[in-house]
Amino acid sequence: MTSRQKLFPVTMVGSWPRPPDVMRALRQKHEGTLSEAAFNQVADEAVVEALRAQEASGLDLVTDGEQRRDNFYSFVAEKMDGVRLTTLAEMLNIVEDKARFERILQTLDVPAFSMKTAMCVGKVRRRSPLALDDYRFLRAHTRSPIKVTLPGPYLLTRSMWVKEVSRDAYHTKEDLGKDVVRILREEVQALKNGGADFIQFDEPVLTELVFTQGQTLTFMCAALAARRDPSEELEFATQLMNQVTKGTSGVRIGVHICRGNWSQNEKVLLSGSYRPLASYLERMNVDQFVLEFATPRAGGLEAIGDVLDGKELGLGVVNPRISEVETPQQIVRRAKEAMLYVPAERLFLNPDCGFGTFAQRPLNTARIAAAKLASISQAASILRA
Ligand SMILES: [Zn+2]
Repeated sequence: MTSRQKLFPVTMVGSWPRPPDVMRALRQKHEGTLSEAAFNQVADEAVVEALRAQEASGLDLVTDGEQRRDNFYSFVAEKMDGVRLTTLAEMLNIVEDKARFERILQTLDVPAFSMKTAMCVGKVRRRSPLALDDYRFLRAHTRSPIKVTLPGPYLLTRSMWVKEVSRDAYHTKEDLGKDVVRILREEVQALKNGGADFIQFDEPVLTELVFTQGQTLTFMCAALAARRDPSEELEFATQLMNQVTKGTSGVRIGVHICRGNWSQNEKVLLSGSYRPLASYLERMNVDQFVLEFATPRAGGLEAIGDVLDGKELGLGVVNPRISEVETPQQIVRRAKEAMLYVPAERLFLNPDCGFGTFAQRPLNTARIAAAKLASISQAASILRA
């Protein structure tokens, strides 16, 4: 890919803040008052706007800003058979342990009526591409290399398998995992054949497994039984990822892992270093880890230095949730620290996470997001010089 000629490629993790007309259109589409075609008219414009903002900020790889998605994982409900989109409020009626689920939503500062999740209600099948069409639209509007984001196999399996409604189709979540892997493999092949440069799988719940020790679960997977020992789940997540990437070459595959990005209140987000994940990440057959390091909650790189041997690192250098714009000097310093563990030619620079992980909760304005990206690009120029 062309960006390989440049050191320190700059890219987003995925999402860009959605303008109010996109949020309105998303809501109307879900209510059934806006057709898919009419929605796409609004979204197409927003995607091009997000693209131009990235180009103006000097990014080396671009995304479509996830403008068409309600959030980074539940959008698959519209593309797959056997999956239903449900609000967390509806989920509350379904799960057995209602008190616990409600407590989680409250503790984590999650609005139950506006956030949606995808739930498995039958045999799952890829009815239409998950991201290929979106990729093609972006491809038609830019010559820059493109990163495509997809929910990771573990996140999808775990969040979609809700015992009360999924068990008729899949007795266990492991059974569902097999079909999720098949669907993601189909999508990877389609994107690769379409010429995508970078496919990033989002697996934010991996941190939840180790930092909460099964005591609380995020709202994304709240319907599942808690486990005190996370090792079995992490092993499952590692196996799923390796099954997805097995035998795949010719496209860069990354995994993004963070500690939640649903609130600007840092206190409700998880905290702890990547160390407990090290032995699992070490065995994940992917090209790049896209990790957050700008937030102090993520600890330092020394926690997983060994894991990065031979791998690329997408280094989180700005916090998408705060309005203060990090200076290029701050970012240069962070990159230099990272170079103690990862050589320059394997280092990418990006924010810690997306700017609009959930449609209804943009974490910053487009103006501040653009300023942060521009700051990263300036830092990259300084580093290259
Ligand atoms: Zn993230």
